[in-house]
Amino acid sequence: MKRSDTLTTELKKAGMRITPQRVAICKLLCETDSHPTANAIYEKIREQYPSISLATVYNTLDVLVGLGTVNVLGAIGDGHVHFDADTSPHINLACVTCHKILDINSVHVVGLDQDVSSTSGFKLLGARVMYYGLCPDCQRTQTSLTNQGENDHGNK
Ligand code: ZN
Repeated sequence: MKRSDTLTTELKKAGMRITPQRVAICKLLCETDSHPTANAIYEKIREQYPSISLATVYNTLDVLVGLGTVNVLGAIGDGHVHFDADTSPHINLACVTCHKILDINSVHVVGLDQDVSSTSGFKLLGARVMYYGLCPDCQRTQTSLTNQGENDHGNK
């Protein structure tokens, strides 16, 4: 897990003023594995710092993303951009129905990394691999809904 002081150091280097609110954003990003949206971060930080603005959350995230220390995962069918402070090679697996995002570690990702850098000559700084699907919970819900539909039909 990334330490939140690496993020605040990066922010400082980028010329940002380090406020307690920004420190809290960095801490939250490093401690969570829930891949939060800007709004979720805002709601969480607001519990501790009621005066924080959504603009502060956005501009802090913008700088962190620009520095490459936080990844933008994009929307996963919920229309909201998600953020991930874990920029080490791993797979993000998103459920398109309940919108949870899991981290999957796979030896293949490490191999893929070596492939990418050896064929391109790039020094890799980070990676982002996103898979989409239906989580086991949502599959069960879908199956039970389908079965229910069939039963209703059979009763008629
Ligand atoms: Zn799901």
